[in-house]
Amino acid sequence: MNIILFGPPGAGKGTQAEIICQKLNIPTVSTGAVLREAMKNGTPTGLKAKQYVEAGELVPDAVVTAIIKDRLSEPDCANGYILDGFPRTIPQAEALDAMGVKIDAVLSIELSDEEIVNRLSNRRLCGVCGASYHLLYNPTKDNVHCDKCGGELITRKDDDPKVVMNRLDTYHSQTEPLKAFYNAKGLVKTVSGSDTIPEITRHILAELGT
Ligand code: AMP
Repeated sequence: MNIILFGPPGAGKGTQAEIICQKLNIPTVSTGAVLREAMKNGTPTGLKAKQYVEAGELVPDAVVTAIIKDRLSEPDCANGYILDGFPRTIPQAEALDAMGVKIDAVLSIELSDEEIVNRLSNRRLCGVCGASYHLLYNPTKDNVHCDKCGGELITRKDDDPKVVMNRLDTYHSQTEPLKAFYNAKGLVKTVSGSDTIPEITRHILAELGT
């Protein structure tokens, strides 16, 4: 099954992707995670992406599309995958079509702008393994270290309130139109992002019929 997790920043796409990929036994492909890793390692892709990511803007389509093309051709993607954070523009969705990718479902996690700003200010990330947490709704044992690997928790630079407003604008102007694009194909299933993490997982799995 090839699934897109769609929604604004902070809706819980990454958190749900981590849970659902284990239940369905397929990998998650997260362009945001790939870009953060590339930036950390100072690779040519990371250097190209840095200024956009830190300003809350989208990385050029050609850069992210090349990442996706490479990643989806790896053997572990043969039985399906969850796309988290891709596509984010109509040209990216068209590039996916042009690669011959058949999408089975687009799960749209819905959340108001007000809730997004609130969520992102309390979001933390493991600086080592990248696992995502929320200080109130998805805390670690001590809210200092990662429960999975013990790495120290960090705040994403692009979760700074000024950058968040930019990311929201970008979401509404460039990414939200994708909902109509996939609605026209009858693929969009909507779940509320304000429920608890297990409830959202349950709704997603029910929508997928699993
Ligand atoms: P995320 O972790 O999905 O919130 O992504 C973090 C940042 O990476 C975004 O704000 C963008 O700057 C960049 N990014 C991630 N995915 C994409 C994409 N599909 N297209 C363009 N930029 C992206």
